[in-house]
Amino acid sequence: MIHEILPVGLLQCNCSVLGDESSREAIVIDPGDDIPAIEAILKRHGLKVKSIIITHAHIDHIAGAHKLKQLTGAPVFYNENDLPLVKMMDVQASWLRMPTPEVHPPDALLKEGQDISVGGITGRVLYTPGHTQGSICLYLPQQSLLIAGDTLFAGSVGRTDLPGGDSRQLIHSIREKLLTLPDETKVVPGHGPNTTIGEERSDNPFL
Ligand SMILES: [Zn+2]
Repeated sequence: MIHEILPVGLLQCNCSVLGDESSREAIVIDPGDDIPAIEAILKRHGLKVKSIIITHAHIDHIAGAHKLKQLTGAPVFYNENDLPLVKMMDVQASWLRMPTPEVHPPDALLKEGQDISVGGITGRVLYTPGHTQGSICLYLPQQSLLIAGDTLFAGSVGRTDLPGGDSRQLIHSIREKLLTLPDETKVVPGHGPNTTIGEERSDNPFL
């Protein structure tokens, strides 16, 4: 599988491009900004986007989704419990002093346990509320890979002081849904460096 990680926008959100080598079909996760750079990666690998997945509806993760959908025709998926955050996109934009992006309700909803299959790539949706009420992670068992959004970071966990945040719920989600994955699972957080489930289980001071 092709996996490119591209930090996008002001807050350097880690956008992942997952591409299947034989079908050339791809999933793009959290295209928060810098759509031309994402397009360049797709073009370089000859990939066609089939699904756009949003781990949660914070502006730095979702702001470019509509633009990428317009360019590729791919549907946008996220969890319905983040719709209140989408409704306050103007407030989110004011936090970053940026113009309000065009953001729409999802084309389909992401639910706990659902499999997203594109080409030969299959990712399972893990519903992990806490950072926001609609936060999800995407787990790819075949690749031993977790796209964690802002739920789990290397040596840290997602902030819970923004609307919809709940710290007890966040820790519960991490313990029940993420720390139960195999130690060798590679974790790509929403910001900053990669880690593994094993490293976070043994060293993360928040857990
Ligand atoms: Zn966030």
